[in-house]
Amino acid sequence: MTYRIALTGGIGSGKSTVAEAFAGLGIIVSDADAISHQLTRPGGEALPAIAAAFGAEMLDATGALDRARMREQVFRDPAARRRLESILHPLIRTRMLAETETISSPYALLMIPLLLETGQQALVDRVLVVDLPEALQIARVQARNGLEPGQIKRIIASQVSRTERLAAADDVIDNSGDQHRLRPQVERLHQAYLRLASASLRCF
Ligand code: ADP
Repeated sequence: MTYRIALTGGIGSGKSTVAEAFAGLGIIVSDADAISHQLTRPGGEALPAIAAAFGAEMLDATGALDRARMREQVFRDPAARRRLESILHPLIRTRMLAETETISSPYALLMIPLLLETGQQALVDRVLVVDLPEALQIARVQARNGLEPGQIKRIIASQVSRTERLAAADDVIDNSGDQHRLRPQVERLHQAYLRLASASLRCF
């Protein structure tokens, strides 16, 4: 059993940046958002069930999920959101477990932005949160995507609060400084995770 650590954090907190640093140390990273895209692109494994549940008009001309249309529907209708999640989440979970079930990495990172919102902590041995103050989060998302601050605030409000996220964390990376400050934090955690992973192997 691979020792699994969830990497989570709010929008623009720095999850991808942190994931790259771990990948640079040879650690396998499985990305829930990337898998979700694979499952819903033309020919994707989730499409037959999505078309059956929501109608073939949810697919666009290329045969992929019409993400904008789907987003609009689940935004208006919580039951539709639950139905979509009940299709996607088991498939994402299976793929994440398959991708990380490898002996080539001493432990694995599962990048799951909405880990806490979707209650998936049982999938992992430990939770790593990337944290920063909201004002910085807004500024970085604005610089990355050009979204309006109001839009970014609405997305932040739809995610768990910073306090709730920190309460669920086993480990925290502080990304309030510049990117050079990430490296030593990642290296310290990497050493700790190597120890935890080898201790967990000895338990079996
Ligand atoms: P997430 O994956 O959590 O959405 P990203 O890793 O994409 O976040 O980071 C959000 C944006 O902020 C990206 O454009 C990234 O390059 C930038 N960024 C990340 N960390 C820092 C930092 N410490 N200082 C400045 N910019 C950063």
